[in-house]
Amino acid sequence: MNWTGATWGWLSVSVAAGLLAMGGLLYYALRIKARLQERTQELVSAQDELCERSELLDQAQSEMARLKQVPKTELLSMLQLTHELRSPLASIQSALDMLLQGYAKSDPALHDEMLGLARERAASTLDQVNDVLRLGAVQHSEIERRVRPVQLIELVKRLVPEKTVRAKWKAVDFSVQMPDSLAVVSATPEDLEHLLSNLINNAIKYTPPGGRVTVYLEEDEEKVTGTVEDTGIGIATEDVSRIFEEFYRTDAAKEMDAQGTGLGLSIAKRVVDLYGGQLGVASEVGKGSRFSFSFPKAVTRRQPVLDRRSRRAPRERVKVFRDLQREVILKGLCGKCGGCVSFCSAGALGALEMGEDDLPRYAKGAKCVACGICYLICPQTTDLDAEVRESFGWRAPIGIYQAARSARASDESIHRIATDGGVVTALLLYMLERRRIDGAIVSRRTTAFGREPMIATTREELLAAAGSDFGGSSHLEQLSDHYTTYSPTLSAIKGLEGTRLHRAAVVGTPCQIRSIRKMQSLHVVPSHVIAFAVGLFCMENFIFDAPGRTKLKDKLQIDLADVTKLNVKEDVIFALRNGKVIHVPFEEMDEVARPACLACTDFANDYADLSAGGLGSPDGYTTVLIRSEKGNQIYGEALNHGYIKERESGDWAQVRSEEAEMVGKAVAFAQWKRARGEARLKELGVEGERQ
Ligand code: ATP
Ligand code: MG
Repeated sequence: MNWTGATWGWLSVSVAAGLLAMGGLLYYALRIKARLQERTQELVSAQDELCERSELLDQAQSEMARLKQVPKTELLSMLQLTHELRSPLASIQSALDMLLQGYAKSDPALHDEMLGLARERAASTLDQVNDVLRLGAVQHSEIERRVRPVQLIELVKRLVPEKTVRAKWKAVDFSVQMPDSLAVVSATPEDLEHLLSNLINNAIKYTPPGGRVTVYLEEDEEKVTGTVEDTGIGIATEDVSRIFEEFYRTDAAKEMDAQGTGLGLSIAKRVVDLYGGQLGVASEVGKGSRFSFSFPKAVTRRQPVLDRRSRRAPRERVKVFRDLQREVILKGLCGKCGGCVSFCSAGALGALEMGEDDLPRYAKGAKCVACGICYLICPQTTDLDAEVRESFGWRAPIGIYQAARSARASDESIHRIATDGGVVTALLLYMLERRRIDGAIVSRRTTAFGREPMIATTREELLAAAGSDFGGSSHLEQLSDHYTTYSPTLSAIKGLEGTRLHRAAVVGTPCQIRSIRKMQSLHVVPSHVIAFAVGLFCMENFIFDAPGRTKLKDKLQIDLADVTKLNVKEDVIFALRNGKVIHVPFEEMDEVARPACLACTDFANDYADLSAGGLGSPDGYTTVLIRSEKGNQIYGEALNHGYIKERESGDWAQVRSEEAEMVGKAVAFAQWKRARGEARLKELGVEGERQ
C-alpha cells in the first residue's frame, strides 16, 4: 500500500485528533476516577457516619425502651399496692357497714370485736402506707437527710417496749443481748429505726407462738453489727435471693396468713445500701432465720478523750430512774404526772410504780432494763425538749395557737356544775358521743380532798368525774373545769393497753401533756392511744393536807370547812358557805403550793391540742386557746353540733378585742410563771433551758 502525503496528512490529523480525543478521554476518565474516588470516600465516611448514627439510634432506642419500662413497673407496683390495700380496706368497710346496720346492736361484745377488727386492719393499712412513703424516701437519696452519729443501743432500747408487747400478743419470747456501750454509726435515726423495726416485726410475724426472737448488737474493729434471729418458719433457698425484691412474699408467709405487702425488706436493703452497710440472711425452713446488718463505725468529729487508767474511750451513760430520783424527785421537782410509771407498766417492764405519796418509785428494781425512757419522758428533764419544741413549731411566749375563744357548755347540767364554762367536759362528751374517742382519762373524786384517775367511756362516767357534788364538802383539788391537777392522771393510761380503747382523750396539766408529747416523740406505749390532749391553764396546785390547812387558817383566816368552791383565774378564789368570796393573790398561796409547781415554767399548756381555763373570760365562760389542727376541728364540730356556744359579742372589732384580752392575760401569766420557775430552778442549781 502506497501512503500519499495527503494520506499521511489525513493520518497525522486523524492520529493527532485521535490522540487528542484519547487524551481528552483519558483526562475525563482520570477526572471521573478522581471524582469516583472522592465519592467513594464520601460514601465510606457517610457509611461510617451512618454506622455511628445507627449505634446512637440503637442506644436511643434502648434508652426509650428503658424509659418506657419505668412507668410500667411503677404502674405495676401501684396496681399491686392498690390491690394489697384493697383487702384490709374492704374488711374495714364491711365491719363498719354491719355496725351501721345495727348488726351488733344487742351484743356489745360483738360490737367491740368488730370495731377492734376494723381498727386492727386500719393500723396494718397505715403500716403499709408508711412503708410506701419510707420506700419513696429511701429511693430518693437526694432528699436531704439529717445524718448524724446514731447509737444503736439507744434505738433498740426505744423499740423494746413496743416489740415486747407485740411479741407477747403473739406468745413469742422476745429478748435483746447487747453490750453496755457500742460505737456510733452515721445515719438518720429514723432510717435505722425503720430497718430494725422491720426485721424484728418480720421475726415476730413469721415465728409461730411458743417460738423465740432475739436481737443481738456487737462490734468489731471496723463495724457495728445487728442481728435479728428467730425460730420461725424459715425461708427456702430459692426464695432467699428474692425476698429483698419489692412486693415479693414467699408462699410459706402467705399460707401462714400473716399480713404484709412485701416491701419491708426492700426498704431495709435500700437503707443499708444508703449508708454503705451490708445486709445478709441465713435461714433454714422450719428452723428459723437470722438477718444481720452491719455499718461502718462512724468517725465522730469530737474524738473521745482516752481514759488514762483503762485506755478506753469513756462513753456517755444512759440516764435511768436512779438519775430521775436524784435530779427530780429528791429535789421536790416531781409533778406526780405518772408518766414514767405509765410507760414502764404499759411496756410490760413493771419496774416502777406509784407510791402512796403519789411519787414514782421502784416496784421491782431487778426488772429495770435501764432503757432510760422514764428519764427522757419526764417533763422535768430537758433531753427531749428541743425535739418536742421543733415538732410543735413552738413559739414564745405561749406556744402556737390559731385562735382564742370564750365559750361555755350548752348543756345546762354540765354548765351548772362547771367551775368556768364547762367547755372541757362538753368537748369530751362530743368526742365520746360522736365516737371520735373511745374514752377520756379524767379524774374521779374519791374523798373530799382526794381524786384518782379514771377512764370514762360513757356520758354518766364523764359527768360523774366532772363531779357535781359541791354541797357540804370542798372541791379543792380542781384547778379549772372539774379536773384535778393533783391526780397522777397518766398512770391511768396503762389501763388502756390491751383493751378495746384505742383512742383516748386526756385532760391534763402542762407537765402531764408534756410527758405525753415526749412519749409520742419516742413512739413508746401507751402514748399511741392518746388521740387528743386537752391542756389546762395551770399556775399551781395546792396541798391541802393537815399542815396546809393550818397554814391557810393561820395566814389567810380561811377554814376549808367553810369553802364550797375553789377557782383559779387571775388569783385564787375561795367561795364560802356564807356567800362570801375571797380572792387571794398567788404569792400568798406559795406556802400551800406544791413545790414542783413553783419550779414549773409552763402556764398555758403549750403542747396541748387545745388549752383551756377561766383566765380572761367572764364568770361562766372558759377561755379556749385552739392550737393544733385537730383542736380546731373538734372545737368547730362541737360548736356546730351545739355542744358548746361562744360568748355573744357585738361586732368583729369587739371579738378581736376580747381575743386580744384573753391572749394578753395568758401571756402575762405565762411570763410570770416562767420567771418564777426559772428563779426556783436556779436556786436548786438545776441547769438546762426550759421552754
Ligand atoms: P411488709 O411489707 O408488711 O413488711 P412482708 O413482711 O411480707 O410485708 P418483707 O418484710 O419485705 O415483706 O419480707 C418479704 C418476705 O420475706 C416475707 O413476705 C416473707 O415471705 C419473707 N420473710 C421475711 N422475714 C422473714 C422471717 N424472719 N422468717 C421467714 N420469712 C421471712
Ligand atoms: Mg416485713
